[in-house]
Amino acid sequence: NRLANNFQFIDVGRQDPDTRALDRRKTEYVEIYDGFSKAQVAEQSHRCLECGNPYCEWKCPVHNFIPNWLKLVAEGNIFEAAELSHQTNTLPEVCGRVCPQDRLCEGACTLNDGFGAVTIGASEKYITDTALAMGWRPDLSDVVPTDKKVAIIGAGPAGLGCADILARAGVKPVVFDRYPEIGGLLTFGIPQFKLEKEVMVRRREVFEGMGIEFRLNTEVGKDIAISELMEEYDAVFLGMGTYTYMRGNFPGENLPGVYEALPYLVGNVNQNLGFEQPAENFVNLKGKRVVVLGGGDTAMDCVRTAVRQQAEKVICAYRRDEENMPGSRREVKNAREEGVEFLFNRQPIEVVEYFGAACGVKMVTTELGEADADGRRRPQPIAGSEEVLEADAVIVAFGFQPSPADWFTDINVSTNDWEGVVAEEHQEFKFQTSNPKVFAGGDMVRGSDLVVTAIWEGRQAAEGILDFLGV
Ligand code: FAD
Ligand code: SF4
Repeated sequence: NRLANNFQFIDVGRQDPDTRALDRRKTEYVEIYDGFSKAQVAEQSHRCLECGNPYCEWKCPVHNFIPNWLKLVAEGNIFEAAELSHQTNTLPEVCGRVCPQDRLCEGACTLNDGFGAVTIGASEKYITDTALAMGWRPDLSDVVPTDKKVAIIGAGPAGLGCADILARAGVKPVVFDRYPEIGGLLTFGIPQFKLEKEVMVRRREVFEGMGIEFRLNTEVGKDIAISELMEEYDAVFLGMGTYTYMRGNFPGENLPGVYEALPYLVGNVNQNLGFEQPAENFVNLKGKRVVVLGGGDTAMDCVRTAVRQQAEKVICAYRRDEENMPGSRREVKNAREEGVEFLFNRQPIEVVEYFGAACGVKMVTTELGEADADGRRRPQPIAGSEEVLEADAVIVAFGFQPSPADWFTDINVSTNDWEGVVAEEHQEFKFQTSNPKVFAGGDMVRGSDLVVTAIWEGRQAAEGILDFLGV
C-alpha cells in the first residue's frame, strides 16, 4: 500500500505535470502544463512529510494549510480538500497555476534538501479544478445576511479576495470593473499559455453563485461617480492595480517599433478572445527580430507571446545576472525551451533609428556593484562595452507604477511619494485609507507584485471592513 509508506519521498521522486509537445506549444495559446491524473496527484502529494512546523505554510503569502490538503487529496477526499483550501485562498486554482512556487511554498519545502520539493502548486490546481468539475461549490448556506453592502472597485485578485470574505460574512459585495470580464491582470495581462481564460469565466459563475454582484464595463469616475458609491454603500474597497508604464528614459524610446509591454499583451489577449478593440491595439510580431527589455514575469510573457506570434528571433536582455532575475525561474526555463535567447548583464542606452523607425538597441554590458536600499546589487555599466543588437521591434517591460485616479482627492484618499495608496495591515481597521470608509489593497498599495499577495491584502482588507462595520 503506497499510502502507508512514510518514506514515499525516497521511493518516489518529485514529478511535475507533463508539458505539451514543444512544436505545438510554440504556436498555441493554451496552458503548457497538463493536469495531474488522480494517481499522480495521490503519489506526489503523499511525498509530503507533514512537518510539525511547515515552512511551506509560512512562506505561502495566504498561509494555506498545505500539508493538510495534500493529505486529503492523497486519500482521495477532493471535496474536503477544496473546502479547506478555500478557507485561506480565494483563487487556489489560479495560484496553483501562476504563483512562482520556486520562490514561495515549494522553495521552502523541507524536501528541497536533496529529494525535490513536493509539487504543491500542481496539487493545489488539481484539487479545485477537480472539485469544481465534480460539482463542488462553496457552501454559504449557514451565512446570515446583514443589511450591509460594500462597493469594490476592481475585479482583480485583490477585489475578488475582498468580495469572497465579505460574501461569507453576509455582507453584499458589488464589484465594479471597467473591463468586460473579471480577473484584472489574470484575464487581461497574463497570457493563456499560463492561465486559460475559461478558468476566470468559471470563477465568475462560482462567485455569482455566492451572491457577489459584478458590474462590468463600468469605469468608476467615468461611467459612475465615486460620490454615488460613497453615498449608496457602507464602505468602499479600492483594488485598482498599477497601470503606469515605467519608462527607460533613453533616446529613441518613442520611435515606431518600440512597444510598452502591457498594451502589447492586452492587445494580443483581446485579439485571441475576440473582444472589440481599435485595430492599432493589436501588434503582430510575425517574422520580426524582437528584443524584450526586462527580466520579470511581464518580460517572460512578452517573449513567449512573440514566439507564438512566430517572430523570427526573440531575445530577452536583462541588466543583472540570471540569479538576480525577479521573474519565476520556471518561466525562464519555459521561455528558453521555446527558443528565447537570454542576454544577461546588458543595459539599454538607446534605441537606434533607421528611416524613422527602430532598427536596434544599443546596449552596454554591466557588472554588479554595491547593494541598493532594497539589498539588490546595482548594475554598473562597463565603459567601452557598447554594442548594437539588431531589432525590428523592441518591447519595454520595466514594470508599473500606481495610477492614482483624479477622484482620490475628492474623497480624501492619501497617496505616498511613489503614488501608492496609503493603507496597511497593522492598523486598527486593516487596510483602511485616510478616509475611514475607504479601504485599499493589492498592487495599488504594495506596488506591482503577485496574484497571491493581492488576494491576501484583499482578504485582510475585508476583515478590516467587517470590523469597521461591526459585523
Ligand atoms: P489588477 O489585477 O491589476 O486588477 C485591477 C482591476 O481594477 C482591473 O481589472 C482594472 O480594470 C480595474 N480598475 C482600475 N481602475 C478602475 C476604475 N476606475 N473603475 C473600474 N475598474 C477599475 N503575478 C503572479 O503571481 N504570477 C504571474 O505569473 C504573474 N504574471 C504577470 C504577468 C503580467 C504581464 C503582469 C502585468 C503581471 C503579472 N503578475 C503575476 C502580477 C499580478 O498579475 C498582479 O500582481 C495582480 O494581478 C495584482 O492584482 P490587483 O487586484 O491589485 O490588480
Ligand atoms: Fe504555493 Fe501560491 Fe498555493 Fe501558496 S497560494 S501554496 S505560494 S502556489
